[in-house]
Amino acid sequence: MDFIQFKKFFETEPKYRLGQAQTGLFRELIGDWQETKSLPAVLKEELNKKFPIGILAETFESKDDNTLKALITLEDGLKIETVLMRHSDKRNTICVSSQFGCAMNCAFCATGKMGFKRNLTVWEIVEQVLFFARHLKKFEERVSGIVFMGMGEPFLNYENVMGAIRVLNDKDGFNLGARHISISTAGIIEGIEKLAEEKLQVNLAISLHAPDNELRSKLMPINKNYSLEKVLKAVNDYVQKTKRKVMFEYVMIRDVNDSEEQAEALAKLMKNYLYFINLISYNPTGIFKPSSSEQIKIFKEILEKRGVAVTQRHRFGQDIEGACGQLAGKE
Ligand code: SAH
Repeated sequence: MDFIQFKKFFETEPKYRLGQAQTGLFRELIGDWQETKSLPAVLKEELNKKFPIGILAETFESKDDNTLKALITLEDGLKIETVLMRHSDKRNTICVSSQFGCAMNCAFCATGKMGFKRNLTVWEIVEQVLFFARHLKKFEERVSGIVFMGMGEPFLNYENVMGAIRVLNDKDGFNLGARHISISTAGIIEGIEKLAEEKLQVNLAISLHAPDNELRSKLMPINKNYSLEKVLKAVNDYVQKTKRKVMFEYVMIRDVNDSEEQAEALAKLMKNYLYFINLISYNPTGIFKPSSSEQIKIFKEILEKRGVAVTQRHRFGQDIEGACGQLAGKE
């Protein structure tokens, strides 16, 4: 559906109707307008025709951890992937896609291999969250975090990503705090600059993956236009303006970016106390091999010795190809 048209539709209805409809959508998490109690029957029928909310999806459950992947069919038949990660402490994080395919073409990522097809609309982003929110409701659990780390480069679909975040954050909408929403970018500088001006306090994550331009350009072609220096300058300005933490993602690839010298070089880039590194295990996508856990430990210790804050990302859903960099939609 088109969420702007949806809101417009209610302009000719009594004032409270939009509120009732939004309560149905975002609180009661209805899957069909017929399920709402408060709306008149004629209106429900009209809404089902004009703004259907059913989501066509196939789900895959991981055997080794609490990860669920959904292959959601969009109106034009494209299928995108969304992942739900259920943490042991009852936190539930949803990894959403912002585009079908991706133009970044990072060497280690499966999404890049399929090329870029189109941006997702505001609603196509929001409904990924609603799909799993409805699922969680069955267990009396809720969505506690959203990360834009699925398919696509969120800052190349800036308006729709922010539009979706506004709906998800809106207290009359999905009502999730902005601090529980994170955007990860390959380093689109204009996006970083724009985000610094937003009132919403969403989290920023930067895919770094290499401590020097030569290697970074090989792994992430975008680095040829947006070099490390340019990205770090934009992040520095962002931090000056917002005083918010920034996460740098670093996927550990064996014999490519995991040496002790590279750890030292990386530490030198982490100049601000609001920066922290998130080490990610490389999820196989064909070309590279993941670093050994011993090497990750050595790498991490060097960073820590240099005073850099480091976290390590738990690997989710590898067996269902639902882990970082393994998402590839279907046409
Ligand atoms: N385009 C955005 C968000 C999508 S990917 C970005 O580049 O940040 C989310 C994270 O997963 C990024 O840090 C990305 O570099 C990482 N990633 C991609 N392929 C991966 C793989 N095979 N193993 C582990 N992480 C991967």
